Amino acid sequence: MAGGTTSADPTFQPRRLVRSVLPADPVRCHDEGMAIATQNPATGETVRTFDEHSPEFVTDAITTAHATFQTWRTTTFAERAALMHRAADLLDQDNELIAQIMTLEMGKTLKAARGEATKCAKGMRYYADKAEALLADEPVDPSAVGASRAYARYAPLGIVLAVMPWNFPLWQVVRFAAPALMAGNVGLLKHASNVPQCAVYLEELFLRAGFPTGAFTTLLVSARQVEPILRDPRVRAATLTGSEPAGQSVAAICGDEIKTTVLELGGSDPFIVMPSADIEKAAAVAVTARCQNNGQSCIAAKRFIVHADVYDRFAEAFVAGMAALVVGDPTDDATDVGPLATESGRSDVIAMVEDARAKGASVLCGGNSLEGPGWFYEPTVVADLTTDMHMYAEEVFGPVAGLYKVHSLDEAVELGNGTAFGLGSNAWTNDADEQARFIRDIDAGTVTINGMTTSHNDMPFGGTKRSGYGRELSAHGIREFCNIKSIWIA
Ligand code: NAP
Repeated sequence: MAGGTTSADPTFQPRRLVRSVLPADPVRCHDEGMAIATQNPATGETVRTFDEHSPEFVTDAITTAHATFQTWRTTTFAERAALMHRAADLLDQDNELIAQIMTLEMGKTLKAARGEATKCAKGMRYYADKAEALLADEPVDPSAVGASRAYARYAPLGIVLAVMPWNFPLWQVVRFAAPALMAGNVGLLKHASNVPQCAVYLEELFLRAGFPTGAFTTLLVSARQVEPILRDPRVRAATLTGSEPAGQSVAAICGDEIKTTVLELGGSDPFIVMPSADIEKAAAVAVTARCQNNGQSCIAAKRFIVHADVYDRFAEAFVAGMAALVVGDPTDDATDVGPLATESGRSDVIAMVEDARAKGASVLCGGNSLEGPGWFYEPTVVADLTTDMHMYAEEVFGPVAGLYKVHSLDEAVELGNGTAFGLGSNAWTNDADEQARFIRDIDAGTVTINGMTTSHNDMPFGGTKRSGYGRELSAHGIREFCNIKSIWIA
């Protein structure tokens, strides 16, 4: 449906998406809001713009999705799984193509983009294979409820709207879509305005795999069109991954409409290093944990909290590792860190670092934009942070680490919890008591010991406090958009 495409053609080759990376289309500017456009972050060039779908198009899409749901919800798990497997196979075939589109639209390194596409295919197969077991009827002891038979059933809700960010333009969508579709729901996608080709690709992928029109629909709309979609009674739930303001807005509307929401918002994850840890290994992993995805991951470690006994050793190895990263062309496999996805995103990072610098923080490496076109920023380590600096507790969405010194386990836990967020957390210690303390007392959705937080199909993913609520992935993720129906038979 998006861009007027259809699925039915079995010979469809997504080459026109490749063509679309060429600056062949005239650039159309939108009057208000953020233009829906592909802008290459490595050059700053606007490659292609898209017209926004009209309110009438959106209403028609909801009507189609609603009609599709009436039959889709009656299909068997096996029927849905066959289509999901086909989508995964197609995605594997398209790996290089879609990786190039991701890199073009938001600047992640091509090698990271290839890995993301592979991870998505794996996630699709995970839910294709496991959905039936994860959503199996749960028997209730009939004698306890005076029935001959009783059980709980996970039934699909209907249309789920996904409002998604650009930073993992495929994975964020797939980890919603695969479980939601396998549960028998249908999906609408409002993707970030800077990744329209990824958004169009995803709809085409599901259609090419044989999903019925309306099972998964991309809406090329700006944020201001989200409210009427949420207020349509046929839309039953929403999931949003993104910033706090966007989450607040969607949750407020859904609260008003009494609709289920899942919110995956920002984070400023701690990376705590205690004296018993393998310091060199911790420092090496810390570099990856901070700079993965060009520093733009919600679960990137952002605050490095190090015990005074090992602070100097860790700082030296960490700064050396950060300074050694290769920044540049994201399509070059030798590159570690590509550009930031948007110019405004880089401006935010610059403002945070300059605020800290002006208030007396020490910049141990980096701290500058790269000369020339594109939105590049050097991997940066900032120490001597104080509470009056924005960086102290706010999320920095770029390759910039805050380094903090603590003198005790209590201080490490307190500082680790010392932000409004509670998404992931990382603690490095070989002391079993300290590990138990972090697991018990860190107030976050994830506690990773001697490693860096990542997402796994088998593990629930989500946050506490202002990082949001609800869970994605695992059994919890597929059950979020289900009506848990109690069945009682006399
Ligand atoms: P964003 O500006 O909030 O955008 C995310 C999505 O929300 C986009 O589709 C955006 O559309 C839409 N949006 C923005 N304002 C909205 C509003 N008022 N009403 C409805 N929709 C709205 O976030 P971002 O800059 O793309 O992503 C970065 C943030 O996402 C960071 O804070 C990061 O930590 C967080 N994140 C969290 C997770 C997680 O799993 N917890 C994962 C990844 C990222 P437009 O593009 O059209 O504005």
